[in-house]
Amino acid sequence: MVDAIRVRRSPLFSDGPGGFVHGFPERTGGESIGLRASLNLGYRWGDDQALVARNRARLATHEGFAPTDLQVTKHVHGTAVWCVGEPLPEPPEFDGLVCDRPGPVLGAFAADCVPILFGDPVARVCGAAHAGWRGAVAGVAERVIERMVERGARAADVRVALGPSIGPCCFEVGPEVESAFRDRFGAVPGMIVPGAKKAHVDLRVALVASLTRRGVLAEHVDATPPCTRCNPERFFSYRRDGLEGGVHMGFIGLRA
Ligand SMILES: [Zn+2]
Repeated sequence: MVDAIRVRRSPLFSDGPGGFVHGFPERTGGESIGLRASLNLGYRWGDDQALVARNRARLATHEGFAPTDLQVTKHVHGTAVWCVGEPLPEPPEFDGLVCDRPGPVLGAFAADCVPILFGDPVARVCGAAHAGWRGAVAGVAERVIERMVERGARAADVRVALGPSIGPCCFEVGPEVESAFRDRFGAVPGMIVPGAKKAHVDLRVALVASLTRRGVLAEHVDATPPCTRCNPERFFSYRRDGLEGGVHMGFIGLRA
């Protein structure tokens, strides 16, 4: 007996015809075992490949798309963005994806890093990205906006949802990481939080700063997801479980 699949959705993205298929699945409802129990959606960290394929198929069925609609790339903590339809190099290393037609469903993997979903409901362009601290500082979220604009989107129309990820409660960092955020974003209120021993970084605050500087409206960013590390019943966490743990995948596509 497999648990039900649970998917977090953002009120910023309308469902139904002309809207988006989208969401951030929690860890329940799959077939993987141990620390990867149960809806592990990533192939990279050594899980049984057949189980991961079945987990992806379960999610696709639950959401009403075909497993073959799923478009994913290998994330490398960079800023490269691939638009569906462009030639895909080998290895396909992109932390951002963009699509301007119904059909494909873009996936963004994360387990503490922030999975980010983007959608312009007017121009009908969507995007997905993976942002850990390196990607946030490097500007992967801004790069997705730029590539969406190339495809007809307007930054002021783009909605963005940040998925479950490590919160400021748990994201303790060394001085070099703290400096990287200060150097990149300046003194953003709430971005650096004092901790017991080291500073903590609020990745969500940094990403909102990154997005709004590129023209996204603050009220168009859903920026308060739960913390993955604090909620072991609901989420995988790399800081908590290391490479033995599972990986989540935020997804978004345009509905016909
Ligand atoms: Zn936490």
